[in-house]
Amino acid sequence: MLNPQLLAILACPACDDRPPLQLRGAYLVCYQCRRAYPIRDEIPVLLIEEAVPLEQALPEHEERELPPQDEG
Ligand SMILES: [Zn+2]
Repeated sequence: MLNPQLLAILACPACDDRPPLQLRGAYLVCYQCRRAYPIRDEIPVLLIEEAVPLEQALPEHEERELPPQDEG
């Protein structure tokens, strides 16, 4: 399992304001740019060229159950 402390400091490399990523299955997801970064051997691959579209990473039914964005 990915270290929660590591997850907390990871941010999307594609977004200028570096939003936090959310763990969804085998991917770290940025809901801002809708990219999903694969996790390989418990190492997150935060490369834009390795990212897949969010729709491709998540089953369709799961995407409809996204939690609402909580801006604090
Ligand atoms: Zn992003």
